[in-house]
Amino acid sequence: MFFGGDPFEHFGHHGSRGGGGGGRRAAASSVDTTKLYETLGVEKTADEKEIKKAYRKLAVKHHPDKGGDEHLFKEINAAYEILSDPEKRAKYDKYGLEGLEEGAGGAGSAEDLFSMFFGGGARRSAGPRRGEDINHPLKVSLEDLYNGKTVKLAVSRQVIVGESKMCTGCDGQGVVVELRQIALGMVQQIQRRCPECGGEGYQCQRRREREVLEVLVEKGMKNNQKIVFRGKADEKPNVEPGNINFIVQEKEHALFKRKGADLLITKTLSLNEALCGFEWKITHLDNREIIIKSRPGEVIKAEASDRRPFVKVVTGEGMPSLGNPFVKGDLYVLFTVEFPDDGDLKDDQVEALKKILPGAAMSMEYDPETAEIAHLDHADVKNFGKGGVSNQSSNYDSDDEEGGPQQVQCNQS
Ligand SMILES: [Zn+2]
Repeated sequence: MFFGGDPFEHFGHHGSRGGGGGGRRAAASSVDTTKLYETLGVEKTADEKEIKKAYRKLAVKHHPDKGGDEHLFKEINAAYEILSDPEKRAKYDKYGLEGLEEGAGGAGSAEDLFSMFFGGGARRSAGPRRGEDINHPLKVSLEDLYNGKTVKLAVSRQVIVGESKMCTGCDGQGVVVELRQIALGMVQQIQRRCPECGGEGYQCQRRREREVLEVLVEKGMKNNQKIVFRGKADEKPNVEPGNINFIVQEKEHALFKRKGADLLITKTLSLNEALCGFEWKITHLDNREIIIKSRPGEVIKAEASDRRPFVKVVTGEGMPSLGNPFVKGDLYVLFTVEFPDDGDLKDDQVEALKKILPGAAMSMEYDPETAEIAHLDHADVKNFGKGGVSNQSSNYDSDDEEGGPQQVQCNQS
């Protein structure tokens, strides 16, 4: 293997990754058994040789040392690790990634696999008789999404004590049928929910339990991502309990805007700084102080040549990637350049600048007897098109079939 034997070692973070016996388990249950084959670009019927060949080709093509995408490379490795092992492959074909949860050996937990292939999101169960999921929003600061954090949250859940028995009132049907005589010889059949079991068909002792869940906010998690506690919703007889999901709600940050793994900050520079250089100190999300400093001669423009905002990037100072926090996005800086206001520059400064800056105005030749000199006044681009006298009549637009404003005035008088 390319990463020291274990393609999942980069997932080893936040302490215990116990045997999956804890509350946090894989999210999926609607079984997908094709994703790994798609990752390697082979048919589901591919034999070992074909799989190996496809893997080798992809591994070479996407190797990070050759500029390949590291996440994809890891997906390829993980897919190969499973599909090249007949036992694991058989499990995957039958039960999907979830089937690999138990005894997955070196392949890490199924949760890792899920977050790798499905971005950690939960997938709805297609299985029968599964209880409903409970969703809790979890507000998380950008700092916590950058650094990772464990939040302890107490939940109150219903648990079943001892065995549950089939309801004798309804024989497990959950409904009872009653016959009611509504007139002589006429009987109405009424079906209603069994009062003894409340429609569940089973009877059991229950109790509410308080449980503290350790919610692991992993580095690089995204807005609306689910942190799933499988089977932690209320227990009901003969129903597989649903999940408790904590839905990450990313809080707005005063300095950083986030998109994917990239961050964006805005910076206003004076024209002097934009031309002559600047130093700027920011505190990053992990409290590191970073001095963003222009290189000698670097010019920050007011806008890019295609009229888009002018941005530059600090490579590798974005958010950590989920699952591989060592691979970070980039930090974009969007610049605004503030030019000096009218009157800010004195005559001698203008003269000095004229000599220094490239592109000084050429002196114009014209005949002062005939040419007219025009100066500029303040303007707002919103007023463009509103000039002239005819448009001052507000009725003009609504009645323009008739022609000029004179016509409108005639109609009104
Ligand atoms: Zn019943």
